[in-house]
Amino acid sequence: MSAVDDIATWLTAQINDDERVALKAKAMRYDLPTDAPWERERIIADQIGGTSKAVAVHRIVAIFANPNRVLAEIDAKRQRIAWLMAQQHDMPEGFPTYDSCRLLAQPGELGDLEVGYCSCGLDGWRTQLLRFEALPYEDRADYPPEWRPKPVS
Ligand SMILES: [Zn+2]
Repeated sequence: MSAVDDIATWLTAQINDDERVALKAKAMRYDLPTDAPWERERIIADQIGGTSKAVAVHRIVAIFANPNRVLAEIDAKRQRIAWLMAQQHDMPEGFPTYDSCRLLAQPGELGDLEVGYCSCGLDGWRTQLLRFEALPYEDRADYPPEWRPKPVS
């Protein structure tokens, strides 16, 4: 599995979790069986999950803003990732049997993205775009810090 596949797989897991929370929020009854705020918080935390009641409450507040909007964003993210992953390498003439131009890259040719990426540029810009897609999830415990894109200057 390539670095590009690793980011796409990880990002898909985060988006799936967003969808799970959004669907829970969308389906949640607003007439919770108590008016006691601490009890409402416990019920919300139980339904939404998270590492603490506070996290669950923050997540649900964000989702309650408009679950349909969140679901539309999730769909758009999935389409962007699918489109990125479906792009084909631009193979030079004379290499019709190669499935990637990755072996043709020269050291230093791709700057920050280093050796291992392809010479047509697809691996480089696809990885960069996936890193931008993954950036909103950098607070997750398993977010690899090396995925953080360098700021554009
Ligand atoms: Zn390529």
